Amino acid sequence: MNAEIDFVVPEFEEYLRDESRRAGSAEQIIFAKCDDDIRKALQSGLPVTVQGARTGIAAGAVPDGGIILNLSRMKNIGDVQGDRISVQPGALLSEIRERVEAHGMFFPPDPTETSASIGGMLACNASGAMSYHYGSTRNWVNALRVMLPDGDILRVERGVKADGLSFVLKTESGRTISGELPDIRMPAVKSAAGYYVKPDMDLLDLFIGMEGTLGVITEAELKLLSVPPLKQALCAFFPDESSAIKFVRFVREELDPVAIELFGHRALDLLRNSEIELPNLPAHFHTAIYFEFHGDNEDVLEEGVLAAAEKMAELGAGDEDCWMADGVREIECHKAFRHATPEAVNLLIDQRKKKHPGLTKLGTDMSVPDEHLDEVLGMYREDLAAASLEYVIFGHIGNNHVHVNILPRDMEEMAKGRELYLKWAEKVVAMGGSVSAEHGIGKIKVPLLEKMFGSEGIAAMRNFKKLFDPEGILSPGNLFG
Ligand SMILES: Cc1cc2nc3c(=O)[nH]c(=O)nc-3n(C[C@H](O)[C@H](O)[C@H](O)COP(=O)(O)OP(=O)(O)OC[C@H]3O[C@@H](n4cnc5c(N)ncnc54)[C@H](O)[C@@H]3O)c2cc1C
Repeated sequence: MNAEIDFVVPEFEEYLRDESRRAGSAEQIIFAKCDDDIRKALQSGLPVTVQGARTGIAAGAVPDGGIILNLSRMKNIGDVQGDRISVQPGALLSEIRERVEAHGMFFPPDPTETSASIGGMLACNASGAMSYHYGSTRNWVNALRVMLPDGDILRVERGVKADGLSFVLKTESGRTISGELPDIRMPAVKSAAGYYVKPDMDLLDLFIGMEGTLGVITEAELKLLSVPPLKQALCAFFPDESSAIKFVRFVREELDPVAIELFGHRALDLLRNSEIELPNLPAHFHTAIYFEFHGDNEDVLEEGVLAAAEKMAELGAGDEDCWMADGVREIECHKAFRHATPEAVNLLIDQRKKKHPGLTKLGTDMSVPDEHLDEVLGMYREDLAAASLEYVIFGHIGNNHVHVNILPRDMEEMAKGRELYLKWAEKVVAMGGSVSAEHGIGKIKVPLLEKMFGSEGIAAMRNFKKLFDPEGILSPGNLFG
């Protein structure tokens, strides 16, 4: 027997959680090492929750009874073959990066958490700061191998398309799976909410972002780029938010960065007061914008940086209010600064949990069309002030997609925060936005998905899932509750 199968007793307790800090329950755990182990879990007659590295923050990998199918031990990374590489699902982003960088190649998707597994990244269509330019994980996949609940295998390559909303797929055993894609309207903004569906779409994309609900990804062929020869980054500190937002618009319109990130003034305050070791953040640093350029022409990069510096000065951020990074190592320091914000939030919540064990952070990842950016930021601020809630705002402002993390001090505040999230979801959907641009729905944002697609849309997605998972055994609770 290749798998280790154990009843969940205290030593396996950590596998009942992910980074959402929500805890579930399970009867067994299987650490799969090969296809047969996965089949064993799928054919056990119990519900199966698929797990990668459990860094997800929407509780998608948190079990809701049944078996945990943990893929962290299926982690082979193949050789780099030109601009492609094959990987097993448990390979970590950090490991894939290291392997491809040794060959002068680069895998652009960049969720801040590099200990995420590629299976989890594919299942959530993970994205990050650089997705502003390079797009999300979906853009960097050539082919997938997926095991279905009956143990059959689907191999899907890019280029195999739906015909309008009709689709046909053939499994390795020769079975045909065919039907209609759910007829739902995708927002014209960055979105990781529910199934990805478009007429004439690449069928491969159905499995990217499906959050473990249609099959188990057992292998992926990823697409790579050559490492950009030149990289430069700047972190500019503005005296107020409105100057920072003006600067974001300038950078988007006039320059060609790969990332544009925001750190709101409360996020900077949280960092100032946290135990994480960071460079000094003087009191007049109110709002920060981080941006990064990649290229192969030094003059073009230099021109971009000079134009940005001129605009920054005009908006009140002088030379001394700016950190500049040249080259990979210095940029990594900036990234550590970016990572420190969610880390500081988690540390604070962990402290508060000692007094209120049920407490969790409440984090949004909603996106809106550009014309609604100021409105949505104003709405967050007004509602949070009216509810007297503690919070930080940071994240991917380039895609009009910021994270509002509410930091509840007790359970009453947590309930207030949840109410605000539901209200914001309605408003954001009315603006043409998405209730989740990046982290997915998991179990935590199920009510928000319904706000986005309505009961008809949810029913259409549920019916679609049945084509692949007729008994509904895969990742119960994800997307649909
Ligand atoms: C500090 C911090 C910062 C983060 N920043 C970002 C960010 O910037 N962008 C971003 O997108 N995410 C971010 N995340 C969230 C998380 O890292 C990503 O969602 C990541 O893709 C999850 O990968 P994982 O391996 O941990 O998956 P898990 O948490 O184990 O699982 C996530 C989902 O994928 C499914 N799944 C896992 N493996 C498979 C498989 N092989 N087949 C089918 N389904 C599978 C699970 O069922 C679950 O629904 C952050 C998390 C933390 C803790």
